[in-house]
Amino acid sequence: MSDFVELRWKRNRGWPWPEASWGLTPMFGEDGWCHSCGVPRHPQCGSLVLERKGFTKGVEGAWIPNWQFDVICLERKLAATAADRFDIELRDIDWHGTSPGDAAQIVIPTIGDAWFDPDDLRAAAVAQHGTDGTRCAECGVWRWMPLAFGYLPPLRIIPALGDVDVVASPEWFGDGWKAFRQILVRRPLAEMIVAASPRDFRVNEVS
Ligand SMILES: [Zn+2]
Repeated sequence: MSDFVELRWKRNRGWPWPEASWGLTPMFGEDGWCHSCGVPRHPQCGSLVLERKGFTKGVEGAWIPNWQFDVICLERKLAATAADRFDIELRDIDWHGTSPGDAAQIVIPTIGDAWFDPDDLRAAAVAQHGTDGTRCAECGVWRWMPLAFGYLPPLRIIPALGDVDVVASPEWFGDGWKAFRQILVRRPLAEMIVAASPRDFRVNEVS
């Protein structure tokens, strides 16, 4: 798995709009996400909308917004350079109010049937949280309790990832309104993003 690393975020920047949906309604449509657990019901179909606050000095580098922890945002030129070198899907970011600058997000595909052995995952979740997860009564999606690399069991990705540059796990994690997938990034892309935005990210080895 050494081709892939985690792009570990050091901070979050930006607030998805509207706050009432944690930004999900513009991205997935009013009925496109589960209002109980926050897990989308289908692929993203609209733009992430960010509030201007937090970007008064303009848009630079790359970052992860608040709430949507599996969305990677890139300033326009960085996004264009990344798209030239890597196989990534970009979508323009819209701004609520005056735009502080152009930016795009990487739309991260979910790939694989499983990234972790479920028994290992259950043991890791119970060890950290005392419980493994919950199944949403409304949409039926199972979310494992939040776990980060370092606390997650070893990767057992089935089938292998193949020729992709940024991918999300089929497993959902989260608690309450929080819902996210694990993200892996091909090392050269992660290093490029860290070089452009060292205050936002670092490369974290995974196994
Ligand atoms: Zn749900």
